[in-house]
Amino acid sequence: MCDQCLYLIAKADDDDFLDSLDLTHAERALLEKLYKEGEEAIADTLELQGKALDEAIQELSDELAADADELWKVILAVQAGDFFQEKFEQAVQDAFMPMFRLAGESEAIGINPEAKWEQENKAAAKFTKKLKKLVPAMNSTSADHMMRSFKRAIESGETPAERAVLVKEVSKQAANGEEGPFSMTRAVRVSRTISTAAANGGKLEGWKQSGLVKKKRWRAANNKRTRKDHREANGQTVDIEKPFRVGGEKLMHPGDPSGSAKQIVHCRCTMQAVF
Ligand SMILES: [Zn+2]
Repeated sequence: MCDQCLYLIAKADDDDFLDSLDLTHAERALLEKLYKEGEEAIADTLELQGKALDEAIQELSDELAADADELWKVILAVQAGDFFQEKFEQAVQDAFMPMFRLAGESEAIGINPEAKWEQENKAAAKFTKKLKKLVPAMNSTSADHMMRSFKRAIESGETPAERAVLVKEVSKQAANGEEGPFSMTRAVRVSRTISTAAANGGKLEGWKQSGLVKKKRWRAANNKRTRKDHREANGQTVDIEKPFRVGGEKLMHPGDPSGSAKQIVHCRCTMQAVF
């Protein structure tokens, strides 16, 4: 699909999603800014990951570059090592925790003007931890993706030298970010997954702090890409402290980072308060 098409689809989804949050004009402008910053922070981190991995791959001898076990070791050492783990965690936290707070405060005060939003609340600290748990999963997704591409390259080469050349080509292409685990498309997907988690997580905490919301109702995003499980969850109403049951999993809100990738990646669902 063309970049412009992807952009338009993303924009349409974002608008629907933001509309469902019922923000004031100023809050919305701020949230859009946070979105953009989040996307850029993730894109930067992925770009660095791709470059670092490519540098390590280009340095390998022909023999090692054609050896799947060796490639896997390099991927794990570079990409899933502490450096990127921490860098990713920081990007996720800096970019998306303000979104959690903004959504929370806006909901709490909007529902109950006498409520006092606690900025440094326990829920926010807990949520930061939950968000960070997404990072190893994201890194392992790109590690798996790279490995599959490398294996295909190894299989299609006839001689060791040819295999090494193909592997190095694949690595360079991935580092260029045109497609694959370090591409902008992936940055957008990761950023959306986290922004859904942060906005809905904050919203839920805001409802709790308002002291007035008793239940929550799942609202499925209304578009063709909405998963079957989420379409089925549409309208599900549960106690505010209890999880929704979605596709056999327990989710406190759409995008809940405790859920599996299957249930949260690219989710654009929201919730409605029930009094
Ligand atoms: Zn969804």
